[in-house]
Amino acid sequence: SEVVIKVENLKKHFPINEAIPFKKSTQSVKAVDGVSFEVFKGETLGIVGESGCGKSTMARLINQLIRPTEGVVEFKGKNLATLGSKEIRSIRKSIQMVFQNPYASLDPRKTIEYLIAEPLVIHQIGDAKSRKKRVIELLEVVGLSGYHAERYVHEFSGGQRQRINIARALALNPDIIICDEPVSALDVSVQAQVINLLKDLQRKFDLTYIFISHDLNVVRYICDRIAVMYLGKIVEIGTYEELYENPKHPYTKALLSAIPKENPFDKKERILLEGDVPSPVNPPSGCSFHKRCPHAMEHCKKDIPAFVDLGKTQKVACHLYS
Ligand code: SF4
Ligand code: MG
Repeated sequence: SEVVIKVENLKKHFPINEAIPFKKSTQSVKAVDGVSFEVFKGETLGIVGESGCGKSTMARLINQLIRPTEGVVEFKGKNLATLGSKEIRSIRKSIQMVFQNPYASLDPRKTIEYLIAEPLVIHQIGDAKSRKKRVIELLEVVGLSGYHAERYVHEFSGGQRQRINIARALALNPDIIICDEPVSALDVSVQAQVINLLKDLQRKFDLTYIFISHDLNVVRYICDRIAVMYLGKIVEIGTYEELYENPKHPYTKALLSAIPKENPFDKKERILLEGDVPSPVNPPSGCSFHKRCPHAMEHCKKDIPAFVDLGKTQKVACHLYS
């Protein structure tokens, strides 16, 4: 099937010498450190990992909010770095984002109509009348009534605000929406409603999603494939079934073991990892997980594990499988 986004050896290193004005530092925060994957049309790719693993930086790289240090981002086969500003502008319409915090991303002084129509205004689409019509249509598409258009953000609940954010992201008919922790700030019952809405919209509008989350329990309800990230790298990727039924990377296993069990007789024990996620300024040598890995071997400290193909789509970067 058609590839919507392709990322190859993507890196984003933030130099940290600004903090030390008279000393030229060669250190950098390796937020994203050599990531490759494809996102196919109509699928939802989950990107999962603890905070600080580079998920949000990746979203910003794909959406061209920041430029990569190295590597390539392609949209439908076009390398974004080689495009002129006119083409970039048109691709910007096709890649939209929904952020975690609906409280912060919607201006409280503007009406809902203004907020949802804003992308249309920025891209000079339609006139005032057609935009108003489109706003009402979009509100109904996300399960809100058209009469909400005149209201302000503070009049809405968290779940409703996230619906407004989604309506805004849909305004330009995107191909792909990058959802960065879209339900993390919501109550569990509301989370399910927003996830169901996203699924409905995906079917209706043939949308592709990248769904970023720290919570493997949430992504299982929406993702077709999942990439697990640790310290700026993908350590395992595969379909939902492959990862949940047969996780291979010790880090994936530990994350999965932390999900509350549906079956109380399930004897799998929680795997507790030692220590915190190390700093991405000086990530450990070799396999960057080796300091916390219960299976670490001597050569894990020196050699960076390459990706090993395990089956249909599952790949893992771990010396246990090479
Ligand atoms: Fe653990 Fe070694 Fe595999 Fe890294 S490469 S996850 S340290 S076994
Ligand atoms: Mg984040």
